[in-house]
Amino acid sequence: MSLTSSPADAAAFEVWIADTLRPRAAEKLIRAETFGRAMDGVRLLPDVLERQANQKEFNLPIWEYLAIAASDERIRNGRHRLRSHRTLFNRIEQAFGVEPEVVAAIWGLETGYGVVKGEVPVLSALATLAFRGRRAAFFEDELIAALRLVQLGDATPETLTGSWAGAVGHGQFMPSSMLEFGVDFDGDGKIDLSGDDPTDALASIANYLKKHGWRQGQPWGFEVRLPEGFDHARSGLDQPLPSPDWAGMGLSTVTGDPVPDYGPASVLQPAGAGGVALMALRNFHVLTRYNRAVAYALGIGHLADRLGGGRPFVAAWPVGARELGSGDISEAQFLLSRAGFDTMGIDGMIGPNTTRAVRAYQVARGMVADGYVGPLLLDRLREERG
Ligand code: CA
Repeated sequence: MSLTSSPADAAAFEVWIADTLRPRAAEKLIRAETFGRAMDGVRLLPDVLERQANQKEFNLPIWEYLAIAASDERIRNGRHRLRSHRTLFNRIEQAFGVEPEVVAAIWGLETGYGVVKGEVPVLSALATLAFRGRRAAFFEDELIAALRLVQLGDATPETLTGSWAGAVGHGQFMPSSMLEFGVDFDGDGKIDLSGDDPTDALASIANYLKKHGWRQGQPWGFEVRLPEGFDHARSGLDQPLPSPDWAGMGLSTVTGDPVPDYGPASVLQPAGAGGVALMALRNFHVLTRYNRAVAYALGIGHLADRLGGGRPFVAAWPVGARELGSGDISEAQFLLSRAGFDTMGIDGMIGPNTTRAVRAYQVARGMVADGYVGPLLLDRLREERG
């Protein structure tokens, strides 16, 4: 597939819009008038296809990711924004029950507090990806959602600007999320997530968290000290227990108090038994609804804590350890499954099924059963294969 645009590509794109997309949009109740008005300025964006093709899946070690997510600069800028927008953040907290620091942390991690929102015309980006990109069906659905926003009068082609992948504005909302969770908080009749004024965008972030079950007044989680002889096989986001059960096992906060009762909680060791141990609460799972990566949720949670004056983690990370890439993870999944510990698929990504298989393997081999897919595990699997 050639990524350079030729007149022939542009012509094929126009034909696709007229003959394929138009009838499909009509089926989804997008009126001809809306379609004509919104698609009028849409162009094929070869750069977008190039960006998608060259998208690197990178695995930063969690401690490096957190150093970027909660860098001194991002903390400083976030505290400044909390002060300069204090009234707005307070109004949002009253309306949606989400703390200012949490909303600010998402704003800060998504777009550097609105500094790097992206200026790509989203209708063109989505149409390009729906025409010829990978996951075309997904992007076509998002394009239809964007057209619906225009039809409802909630957006105009001009306000729909953002990233090459179609994420709009300060909080990088996909159009389907704008439809479901977008809020016109300044009451001007439009849901403007990409303008200089972040009022609608920040309220929409808070609404998104509220609708996914955010519990006001509770942390996302906190660092814990594990008792001597802790059974690491009990850790993992898939194994929550009531907080008092953890306290009964001797888990404490880093200041030595028993873990407080915030309801069901899981022990999370993002770098395995050799790194920081955390208690992940309900709000942690809410953050993973914004972005499924555990590192992202942890980045948001930690940045929010730091914006509120919280301290860095106390325990050390295994700095210098090798971080496995997706090829290594696929190999580990293959070897685990062949050894009788089914990871239910080999996709290079760590989900609950892989974690469970790793834990079972570690238990069977007498290893520390922290469920962590790290170099120790891969070396052992390779050795065993012979
Ligand atoms: Ca508005």
